Amino acid sequence: MGGTAQTLRPFLWRAAKLHSDTEIVSRTGRGIERYDYEGYERRVGQLANALADAGIDSGDRVATVCWNHHWHFETYFGVPSYGAQLHTINPLLPDHHVEYIVENAEDKLLFVDASLIEKIEAVADSPSLSSVEQYVVMGDAVPETNLDPVTDYESFVEGHDTEYDWPSLEDDTPAGMCYTSGTTGKPKGVEYTQSMLWGHTMATLTPQGLEFDESDVIMPVVPMFHVNAWGMPYSATAAGAKHVYPGPAPEPADLAKLIEEEGVTFTAGVPTVWLGLLEYLEENDADLSSLERIVIGGSAAPEAVIRQFDEKYDVEVLHAWGMTETSPIGTVSHLKSKMDDWDADRQYEKRGKQGLIAPGLEFKVVGDDGGEVPWNGEDFGEMYIKGPWVTQEYFERPEANEADFEGEWLKTGDVVTVDEEGYVQIVDRAKDVIKSGGEWISSLELENALMAHDDVAEATVVGVPHERWQERPVAFVVPVEGTDEDELREGVLASIREEYPRWWAPDEVVFIDEVPKTATGKFDKKVLREEYDDQSLVEGAVPEDAAPDE
Ligand code: AMP
Repeated sequence: MGGTAQTLRPFLWRAAKLHSDTEIVSRTGRGIERYDYEGYERRVGQLANALADAGIDSGDRVATVCWNHHWHFETYFGVPSYGAQLHTINPLLPDHHVEYIVENAEDKLLFVDASLIEKIEAVADSPSLSSVEQYVVMGDAVPETNLDPVTDYESFVEGHDTEYDWPSLEDDTPAGMCYTSGTTGKPKGVEYTQSMLWGHTMATLTPQGLEFDESDVIMPVVPMFHVNAWGMPYSATAAGAKHVYPGPAPEPADLAKLIEEEGVTFTAGVPTVWLGLLEYLEENDADLSSLERIVIGGSAAPEAVIRQFDEKYDVEVLHAWGMTETSPIGTVSHLKSKMDDWDADRQYEKRGKQGLIAPGLEFKVVGDDGGEVPWNGEDFGEMYIKGPWVTQEYFERPEANEADFEGEWLKTGDVVTVDEEGYVQIVDRAKDVIKSGGEWISSLELENALMAHDDVAEATVVGVPHERWQERPVAFVVPVEGTDEDELREGVLASIREEYPRWWAPDEVVFIDEVPKTATGKFDKKVLREEYDDQSLVEGAVPEDAAPDE
């Protein structure tokens, strides 16, 4: 026995000592703001004192509804190292999901960006938010608001001591929390302990992970409300690297400018972002020479994107897979050294897969018969995974635990093959949800909304492949006899747009005579997916302002 617990705090201590003048840069509504690790550590100390002053106890949950900027980053160390739990909330969720999430987590304090304040105002009067004792607005001045009591972030931390007497925490002290809607039913909470985040950080630093170094300039484009921005705020700090936060809803032009001006070497996000950047670069000049690597994950990285970055911009794309439940990094598509002299096509074939399991984790692939499938690149089954940064349960959801875990194994809901070299490839999804531009859309909720309509006899919603968004929802509707189809289409789409974010609305409503059924009478979406595996159905149908990531 020996050693102290595995906690986040020493990562910051080391960065502030060894790399005190390395910068943290942030694009905000006010322009570019910057300070260094030394300044950051002082602010984190002030934040901890402010939390104490606000009556936050160890174990309390502190929520954020914020984009990627230095204020949000301050909570990343300030809240968990204080002994409280940082709960990042996705502002792109439907309002009733946000209500459910805050109620379930019993958040006590809520940080919200000035630019996202309407999202919280819309639900603030709900009894679901009664646990919230104080709102703190980040960014510009606090606008007129019904949030109460409310203060702005600068006033919240200002005047507090920059030193804080940090507590000794345990491995299993809850440090973070994030809800996933990547399965049917209500969003499910995943709690991250100090040691889960520590283990994930250490694996990320290895060459088998993302291999960060102090010379790197790391720009997390994946939002900080998505699984800790894939752990980068922690791993970049552990490496002592420079951080660049691209701020609220960055456009491709903003990303290109930050890469150029801040010398970004490493960045990461969902495929839609990089497709957008490639499109922008076709029309505009930008100097990407500092950029060495991009991690693409969250949805499958198209091979064409990997090739384009490689061939046109000399940027290596690493394809990675992960889940909210896995903190998130699970696999990364590094080539093995023996593949160095393979021809390009063979290499791209491997790099296009989701990749090799990260050191520290284990997985198996379970076929329909319950047995493990062989690693032959052809047989497929559901991927089960376990390890130190894979959750063992959902927060207060016993029924989900029963369905989604088998002993220590998390059932991922991803259907995969594994080749002889161990490269995992996702070939299907067992879970019935749609991922569009990196954000989940619940087909079940859309189906319920459709079937609530008097003139709908039966309806189902299927994800159809889409070049830019990876998937878009298409509704298949059996109308009640004699219904005017055009009117019905307008009617159902209007009611969905009222209740859900705009980008949830199906791109197309296809009228059919009958929904195909399985032998047991369930809707057989596979048949529809195969029949409509054609992106022309949804081409150009997403309005620009409906973009989940922009
Ligand atoms: P989330 O919990 O929101 O991060 O979503 C996790 C899910 O996103 C996984 O279970 C997969 O279905 C999907 N996913 C994540 N990364 C990839 C990838 N590289 N390729 C395909 N699907 C992915």
